[in-house]
Amino acid sequence: MPIKLIQNSANVFSNLPGIHRVLLVSISIITFGIAFLNPNQDSSIHLIDRFDLFSAEESIPSMALSPDSEFYDVLPFYPEEIEGESVQPTDQTKFEHIIQSGDTLSSVLNQYGVDISEIAKLTKSNKDLAKLQIGQTLSWELNEEGDLNTLTWAVSKRETRTYALEDGKFTEVKDIIQGEWSDHLITGELTASLSESAKLIGLSKKEVSAITRALSWQFNTNKLKKGDKIVAVFSRESLNGKIEQSQLLGVRVQSGGKDYYALKAENGKFYNEEGYAPSQGFLRTPTNKAFKVSSHFNPRRLNPVTKRIAPHNGVDYAMPIGTPLLAVGDGTVIAAKRDGAAGNYITIKHNSQYTTRYMHLKSIHVKPGEKVKRGQKIGLSGNTGRSTGPHLHYEIWINGKAVNPLKANLPRTESMSSSEKKEFEAYIEPVLKQLTF
Ligand SMILES: [Zn+2]
Repeated sequence: MPIKLIQNSANVFSNLPGIHRVLLVSISIITFGIAFLNPNQDSSIHLIDRFDLFSAEESIPSMALSPDSEFYDVLPFYPEEIEGESVQPTDQTKFEHIIQSGDTLSSVLNQYGVDISEIAKLTKSNKDLAKLQIGQTLSWELNEEGDLNTLTWAVSKRETRTYALEDGKFTEVKDIIQGEWSDHLITGELTASLSESAKLIGLSKKEVSAITRALSWQFNTNKLKKGDKIVAVFSRESLNGKIEQSQLLGVRVQSGGKDYYALKAENGKFYNEEGYAPSQGFLRTPTNKAFKVSSHFNPRRLNPVTKRIAPHNGVDYAMPIGTPLLAVGDGTVIAAKRDGAAGNYITIKHNSQYTTRYMHLKSIHVKPGEKVKRGQKIGLSGNTGRSTGPHLHYEIWINGKAVNPLKANLPRTESMSSSEKKEFEAYIEPVLKQLTF
């Protein structure tokens, strides 16, 4: 294998336009010259290093595969080249090319001399080849007549597609490498917020989001602070020693003396330790981020605009104009329009008991009658209607009565039947017992 790669790199070199070849050789000579001339270095040792590059076969393939490496200039460095003598054999059959901006399959193959009709034969039955991306590697082999025989497209670290000529047609074979999945227990005490502590604890950004989503219906992870504790079990896939992806199986956070759990059940959804399903619960706030309350729910408030005592039927969150607003639960839009005082507003009926309202919006993204899902973006916050500054006025109505959104009992799902709960408990048990501090 190493031998083949050496040959490849030599071939790539012989394939470069003349001026590039001259350039590479001169860079190599300059590099060499510096090694000799630098008085501060032991040039004999340096020289041995350089020669090692050529004698140690193991070190060459990796260089051959990474043309961006600083060694690339040194690589096609053969004594014959320095002398200016022509040396490379021309019977090259194997080629390799890394996709760059502007490359297409035809432009790449054609510049290496593959006939357009051959390329058409390949692309006709394999349309995916039009989706080449920068940085992917193409390698191909020609037969004795110089026609295309096989093409290999390294789509990603895990996926390779090979097109081989059979009976005048190129057929595609996909090769997908599976990594190793294993469970990982991550535990730690926060030194700051969750996102700031994540790296120290050993969590990736994606894993932090998974934890935030899993807990979102019962706890806002933005509130985690120094001294709070977290323990989580992730199933991680590692490929060539690197973590490629991971799945959260369970998490427990301890904040302000309280514990919050999110455990993945067999159906893929997260429940707390008592088996409550978050998907039917409400989001605590109609935004992804937490915002400051600028005016609380108050049945007898002095209105700052009208100077009259009037109930403030919701809570005001100060937020920049254009903040995405989310439906706090599944439901149906029953109003979405402009009104004098409310400005652009939306009303969602969630069930026979619960209704929510969102006011002063900049824009409305839903229509009356439309069904919405919990967490769905319904509009952008604004400063329309009777409003003294950019904010969201948010209301929750239960059985026709406005309630304090910060204190309201939000809908949770009905508890599981006793047999369902037994199944759930058995399923989560291996993860749950690991979630200890
Ligand atoms: Zn308000």
